[in-house]
Amino acid sequence: MAEDCIFCKIANKEISADEVWRDQDVVAFRDINPMAPVHVLVIPVSHIASLDQLQDQSLAGKLILTASELARKLDIDDSGYRVVINTGPEAGQSVNHLHLHLLGGRSMSWPPG
Ligand code: C5P
Repeated sequence: MAEDCIFCKIANKEISADEVWRDQDVVAFRDINPMAPVHVLVIPVSHIASLDQLQDQSLAGKLILTASELARKLDIDDSGYRVVINTGPEAGQSVNHLHLHLLGGRSMSWPPG
């Protein structure tokens, strides 16, 4: 756990969040500032600062498969959904704990800004 990491605090239940999934490796919770009708963040329990720091292939697979399972569970799979990992401040990463954005429930344009 990293000190002063808000997502570590959510993963360790020091701060509450609207959780939609939890197991020993991965936690998923609704984004507090949703950008779509369904906007969930999928994070590793262990502190990994960004995608750039992710080396564990098994954990990488688990994070992605959790996102697709949640898309089915939250009923956005049929209408299409997006999974985004902002990596680095120039790409929009504001929290330095790896997180996958799962977005769905509305139509989306491409490319992102
Ligand atoms: O990709 P980025 O780092 O910008 O995403 C961080 C996300 O974490 C934001 O969408 C923000 O709304 C969300 N967040 C949250 N709960 C917090 C702090 C940030 O859902 N306590």
